[in-house]
Amino acid sequence: MIYIGCHLSVTAGYKAMGERMSRFGGNTFAWFTRNPRGGKSKPLIPEDVEALCSHVKKEGFGPLVAHGSYTMNLCSAKEETRLNGFEMLQKDLQRMKMIPGNLYNFHPGAHTGQGTEAGIRLISEALNQVMKPDMPTMVLLETMAGKGSEIGGSFEELREIIDRVECKDRIGVCLDTCHVWDGGYDIVHRPDEVLQHFDDVIGLSRLKAVHFNDSKNDLGSHKDRHEKLGQGSLGMEAMKRIALHPVLQGLPFILETPNEDEGYMEEIRIIKEWQEEG
Ligand code: FE
Ligand code: FE
Ligand code: ZN
Repeated sequence: MIYIGCHLSVTAGYKAMGERMSRFGGNTFAWFTRNPRGGKSKPLIPEDVEALCSHVKKEGFGPLVAHGSYTMNLCSAKEETRLNGFEMLQKDLQRMKMIPGNLYNFHPGAHTGQGTEAGIRLISEALNQVMKPDMPTMVLLETMAGKGSEIGGSFEELREIIDRVECKDRIGVCLDTCHVWDGGYDIVHRPDEVLQHFDDVIGLSRLKAVHFNDSKNDLGSHKDRHEKLGQGSLGMEAMKRIALHPVLQGLPFILETPNEDEGYMEEIRIIKEWQEEG
């Protein structure tokens, strides 16, 4: 089985997210550690976070997948942007200590003209300054669509970052199905080959979470526009094969599809139905 859930707003607090996901029928979820665009974050209330921790334990949730801000760019050509990103990363990982044993995913960054090599170096240097061997959080690099100067559009780029990270047992990858497809990996017709390639380049043991999205665009479009499950270019059959793929079992699957509550509940229901059949 897989754990299934969707991206939630943190506005009503942490405990509220857990309860909301239970009402949705899911058993994992994602949230932005701070305003995804503005970069601000409200202070955590210890009682609220503790209530979430006991809820997920009681309900048998899988690992939760926090998402770093979109504005965080550890490899921008602008020093101010890099420093801002660094500060966000540092604070986010500090807060994640209150929810031990979970995952923190972020977009590696965009080199904004400096070149891939420089981007990879800046990202890994930032990670090495912040990550500690005793931290209770796994840091995940997200597979990207390769839009503009984005780093992480290929498994090889992620591997290069991982190679330079010192805390090897705290670093992993979150595979976004829309992004890898947009990045040129044909997970619709060749899921086995793509996952084999992931294993050869990065190692499947580093794969800790999946962002489960359909795509508005074609294979290799490098666009990054998510679509509702089954309504995009991946299609329902391919999504089902991915959800039931043997090497992905046990992972948290997060929906980041363009939906309101109703739509998420329906997608969660469909995925649970596949699992019951399968
Ligand atoms: Fe993301
Ligand atoms: Fe994603
Ligand atoms: Zn995306």
